[in-house]
Amino acid sequence: MAPERLKNFIGGEWVDSDASAVHEVQNPATGEVIGLTPLGGAEDVGRAARAAVEAFPAWRRVPVQDRVQYLFELKFLLEKHAEELAATVTRENGKTLPESRGSVRRGIQMIELATGAPSLLMGQSLEDIATGIDCESVRQPLGVFACMAPFNFPAMVPMWFFPFAVACGNTFVCKPSEQVPFSQKLVFELIQKAGFPPGVLNLVCGGKDAVNAILEHPDIAGVSFVGSSPVAQHVYRTGAANLKRVQALGGAKNYIIIMPDAELDHALDAVTESAFGCAGERCLAASVVIPVGGCHAEVRAGLVERIGQIVIGDGTQPGVTMGPLINAQARERVVGFIEQGVEEGAELVVDGRKADTSADGYFIGPTLFDGVTSEMSFGREEIFGPVLCLTPVDTLDEALEIMHQHPLANASSIFTTSGKHARHFRYNVDASMAGVNIGVAAPMSFFGFGGSKGSFYGDLKAHGREAFDFFTDRKVLISRW
Ligand code: NAD
Repeated sequence: MAPERLKNFIGGEWVDSDASAVHEVQNPATGEVIGLTPLGGAEDVGRAARAAVEAFPAWRRVPVQDRVQYLFELKFLLEKHAEELAATVTRENGKTLPESRGSVRRGIQMIELATGAPSLLMGQSLEDIATGIDCESVRQPLGVFACMAPFNFPAMVPMWFFPFAVACGNTFVCKPSEQVPFSQKLVFELIQKAGFPPGVLNLVCGGKDAVNAILEHPDIAGVSFVGSSPVAQHVYRTGAANLKRVQALGGAKNYIIIMPDAELDHALDAVTESAFGCAGERCLAASVVIPVGGCHAEVRAGLVERIGQIVIGDGTQPGVTMGPLINAQARERVVGFIEQGVEEGAELVVDGRKADTSADGYFIGPTLFDGVTSEMSFGREEIFGPVLCLTPVDTLDEALEIMHQHPLANASSIFTTSGKHARHFRYNVDASMAGVNIGVAAPMSFFGFGGSKGSFYGDLKAHGREAFDFFTDRKVLISRW
């Protein structure tokens, strides 16, 4: 059977893209081509933006408690189809079914928070700011917003944005990664079933041409981007140059500090999950562990033992704890970093290239390096695969110094039983998602999500209360009667 060619969802209808170029979507566990993403550009984006512009005036006038009824309906439909959506995520992204289920759950939680819009959209008011003069601030939608998403969380990441945008009264254009279009196809089928008015939520398939068309489109008021840092910078610069509101979440290099006083079993379980969960293709994945003081040997031995228990394979199979990488290039890239690490003099403790990966998919085993220094260039890169580096140091301040030198700062954690060390870390850590005795410091829907330095460009972060600021103008009204 020929692979399905994906369609766009524009103005409430599934329509063919004009694009002649396509991206072949593969099941990373088998290499099988499962779909063709049309690489749409200005035409498709223009059509979607037009539908969103036309839908906006009526949608913003729908009372907020009625707008969120559509989100309630969508939430119920997503719950009903959660297993199908998780299976779709695994099929196109490769992560294991339990990991996919977790990501779908996180996505649904965004919708749950967005249904709180009647309270969360409320403004402020103050009487008598001068005698007989009252002042209030109200939140108003801005028009059309768009999001551009990465491959690693195909169902969840767009849900960081569109539920809040439409709850606030905006209309929306969603562009998933061309590598994983099926999850959003399913989400948009449910959006259609939920009965959102045509044009409120639109889906465009494409790659970088679609991103650039969104950034240049005059009718799009704001954009949310999640992906690698070089593209995040491009999105931030180009979006701002085109006078848009921009939030651009970029790449990561996440450090985990283990103090000698840590509860080591707990710390090592958490680090193993953090580094090798989702095959390391996670912006919150642990990349470097910094054992402080005398715990280096124990940390290393404990990690080697835990790595030995990881089961690699097709993520649909029970018992598999690590799926493949997204595609052949990603695998080659990770192999390249392992070779570079060896050339640069790091000690290869566990070599993922030797793992039993006889299947056709893009598998690589978990890898552990020791003796990695900040002078080694491979140790500074975002590897985005199951490669963990050990950089032992003598003091907590040295560990913080290593972290501070890195241009990216997404998430970071410390494992310790000392309140003093935890406090010192919390106060000084520069990553804006930070954990104490937590391996993956992932904020829940009701808190903001996003890093700092080169991991985030913009001001207002994803979801949480900040979403209601990003997707609205706060109009101030002053009255004297
Ligand atoms: P990517 O930057 O290659 O792609 C992201 C999006 O940008 C896709 O929609 C893609 O079509 C588009 N794109 C790709 N190249 C482009 C270009 N040159 N010009 C314009 N648009 C372009 O990222 P990816 O490989 O899909 O995802 C992995 C990256 O995403 C990692 O760096 C990871 O850390 C990051 N990520 C960050 C977060 C976060 O919260 N900070 C979350 C998930 C993923």
